[in-house]
Amino acid sequence: MRGTFVLLISFVFLSCLGPRWIARPVPEADFSRCNDFGEMPQMVAVPGFPSVWQVMYSCDEYPREKTAIALQTFRRSWEEVFGTTAAVDAVFADLLITWQGPSAEDYAAYSTDGTYHTNVSLRGVTLSDSMIIVFQSAGGFDHHERICESALAHELIHAVIWKINGEHGDPDHLGKEFPGWTPDHGMVIQKTNDYLCVLGI
Ligand SMILES: [Zn+2]
Repeated sequence: MRGTFVLLISFVFLSCLGPRWIARPVPEADFSRCNDFGEMPQMVAVPGFPSVWQVMYSCDEYPREKTAIALQTFRRSWEEVFGTTAAVDAVFADLLITWQGPSAEDYAAYSTDGTYHTNVSLRGVTLSDSMIIVFQSAGGFDHHERICESALAHELIHAVIWKINGEHGDPDHLGKEFPGWTPDHGMVIQKTNDYLCVLGI
């Protein structure tokens, strides 16, 4: 018994000789974070993605670190479904995400099945293959919504489709007017949001 204990202790000591990894990058300076005392909105860098930025109307909501995890998760989910990440990486090479409050209610848009609706509020808009706006839902309990409840993954799909075809993000989703969107894209959204919701993100 004593021998086993000594063996265990020595194993622990042996396995803790020192770190064998390099902690990169070093912590960033505070000026690159959202400034609570600064004017709103603010544009801040998303860590780990040198060319992804986000516009925030409150430092409390959608912190940039959570956005970074959401993008990593989206990339992983896309790879699980499609087996490659080239198009996703192309979008992440130049992307601006704007987190806004609830949208107005006088927009026109297609639902996922391709039906056209007028006088509706939006959850998100993809303006190009490098610009996304995500709206909060109007009825959120305290408006601190998780990213998995937002339209971020959905809008990212539009941006990637846009990047691939160079002309549009397939605004009518599964409708027949524009090509691009498939049920597999819906699977990427579901996977992304399932992973994020578990983490409370
Ligand atoms: Zn859409």
